[in-house]
Amino acid sequence: MSDTQGGAPVADGPGPGGEGTARPVLVINAGSSSLKYQLVLADSGRSLATGLVERIGLEDGRATHTVDGEKHVLEQDIPDHTAAFEVLTAQFRDHGPDLQEAAPVAIGHRVVHGGAKFASTVLIDEEVLKTLRRLVPLAPLHNPGNIAGIEVALETFPDLPQVAVFDTAFHQTMPPAAYTYAIPLSWRQTFNIRSYGFHGTSHAYVSRRTAALLGKPLEDTNLVVLHLGNGSSACAVRGGQSVDTSMGLSPLGGLVMGTRPGDLDPGLPAHMSRVSGMTLPEFDHALNKESGLKALAGSSDFREVMELRASGDADAQLAFDVVVHRLVRHLGALALVLGRLDAVAFTAGIGENSPPLRAAVLERAALLGIQLDEQANADARGETRISTSDSAVAAFVVPTNEEWEIALEATKLLATT
Ligand code: ADP
Repeated sequence: MSDTQGGAPVADGPGPGGEGTARPVLVINAGSSSLKYQLVLADSGRSLATGLVERIGLEDGRATHTVDGEKHVLEQDIPDHTAAFEVLTAQFRDHGPDLQEAAPVAIGHRVVHGGAKFASTVLIDEEVLKTLRRLVPLAPLHNPGNIAGIEVALETFPDLPQVAVFDTAFHQTMPPAAYTYAIPLSWRQTFNIRSYGFHGTSHAYVSRRTAALLGKPLEDTNLVVLHLGNGSSACAVRGGQSVDTSMGLSPLGGLVMGTRPGDLDPGLPAHMSRVSGMTLPEFDHALNKESGLKALAGSSDFREVMELRASGDADAQLAFDVVVHRLVRHLGALALVLGRLDAVAFTAGIGENSPPLRAAVLERAALLGIQLDEQANADARGETRISTSDSAVAAFVVPTNEEWEIALEATKLLATT
């Protein structure tokens, strides 16, 4: 039974039911230099194997494959995505489960940017691939790796249906007032410049779980989901639909992240060019790789920043304060956008694992009607309510599960085609 009383861990699992004899989905998250995968049962979310192929195209490639808690490591050169998929199939062949026997029903690819073209999961065909290639300018750091993964997966598994699940699709329900930038019409029309939002599979999964934990139908629930990892975004979800989010055109905007700054004054690029002669590619690199926690505290890893802060490091303290301030500002704004708030959910690496960060944000959210249960927050493991039982607005920790969401999306699409 669900127990959403203040402080009590919520006991029942998120799955819709038992595993039966359902076939798994092979979920693929291909980046430019890495390939993450998971063989997952869509009905229960049970993972049969997870793996990571790293340093594709660099020296000293490395692959890990984990089955039943046992990790198998392989070190060899992995020159390209074709070699990465050979490693993937070799890992399954050598360490199981046997892919022939497991008989995945589909491959689900995570794709970062679907532009305004893809508002939902799609079956991949030549036409879809062409559109994805056209969308590369919108996500030059992410989509090429995703596409390379899809191309090789189509060659490696020609008989399996393959679907693309987009980080942006969940946010296609945002109204024009939320996604439109006040910039010249020609930019918006010719180059599709607007806010798109990211982390959609996580926001979708966590909203559904949070409504279930509240014991309310998703359609009647208003939530703010705070996805806080290396990349972070906040999302206002009304009745299961995204109505606003902190990230915009690219994954740079909004909250302060590991190496990305979040919101900035739009005058900054021109100013830096004038005062330092910095070029746009240099600026782009600095904002993608050298900003955020890394710039403020010397480490992009929040856990390390918290250790530095605990040792009295003033830069780490400032970094923490900036992160919290930005979160409070976005949480307040999104609550007003929603008009009525039922719950706030914390998820991803930082959201799930940092009680001090959650406490610092929620202590400043009393205006919204949230009363933190300090003990529950400190002890939170898995899905946990961290607000008191008389808190007008609830707060939860909800571990995200993007792979399961992608597997669910894939099976849902296959059931309708
Ligand atoms: P990604 O966006 O790459 O998927 P994650 O969701 O795994 O990232 O989040 C990574 C972040 O979570 C890192 O900054 C890491 O330091 C932080 N994190 C992980 N565990 C903890 C912890 N116990 N306390 C604080 N931060 C943590």
